Amino acid sequence: MIRFDVSALIKARLGASLVLDIDTGHQDLTDLSVDFLRGTVQAIRVENGLLVQGSLESQLGLACVRCLESVVLPFSFELEETFRLPGASPKPDILYQVDEDGWLNLTPLLREYAWVAIPMKPLCSPNCQGLCPQCGTNRNVEICWCDTSQIDPRLAMLKDLL
Ligand SMILES: [Zn+2]
Ligand SMILES: [Zn+2]
Repeated sequence: MIRFDVSALIKARLGASLVLDIDTGHQDLTDLSVDFLRGTVQAIRVENGLLVQGSLESQLGLACVRCLESVVLPFSFELEETFRLPGASPKPDILYQVDEDGWLNLTPLLREYAWVAIPMKPLCSPNCQGLCPQCGTNRNVEICWCDTSQIDPRLAMLKDLL
């Protein structure tokens, strides 16, 4: 869990801020495992809570959608979100809140931003040749002798979408 004690900010004047350094190894962001998370986040006391903003770099392993080989994908994202302070009344536009004991848990927020930042259809390379539709050979590493020239053009179109 990535969390910081921000109790000092809760009572601080508006505009007071804390710089939070994130530099972790492997992290499980609930349902997303990343190899590392690095970056700097600033927490600023604002009128309706704590404004959290910063930029992060990360990396994770996924399977290429064409050839199914695993690929390491670096990605980065900027985040900006307001956290409600403990005891403050709920607001529909503020989804996150600082814990009652003054801790700022960033894991759910990082998970949300990471999911948006990672590619939906990861490729090992832009010109990955994928698997042979007939024998399943990985065409990036081996040439098979299947005749795939007779593929129905509608299927070929589908294949391009994959
Ligand atoms: Zn591939
Ligand atoms: Zn083949």
